[in-house]
Amino acid sequence: MKGEVCPNHKGCQVINIEGFVESAGMRDFYISNFCEASQDKWSECKRFQTKRALAFCPDFVLPDSNLTLDEIIDKIETEF
Ligand code: SF4
Repeated sequence: MKGEVCPNHKGCQVINIEGFVESAGMRDFYISNFCEASQDKWSECKRFQTKRALAFCPDFVLPDSNLTLDEIIDKIETEF
């Protein structure tokens, strides 16, 4: 459904922190294709999926990350 923003919209770094996504064009792309698109789009966002699974999402995960949840967990465990 159009006009239905991501439930994480208010608190998400992609939305709230300028420079969190390196390029402004890419940030706009993420916002229009995930955050403010439709439920079937934002539910595909890797940040959304990670937060739903872990109750938080590390900064290295971007909406179109190819990492699986297991790989994200491994990275958290080895790098932090
Ligand atoms: S779609 Fe992803 S990047 Fe956008 S607000 Fe939701 S969790 Fe954040």
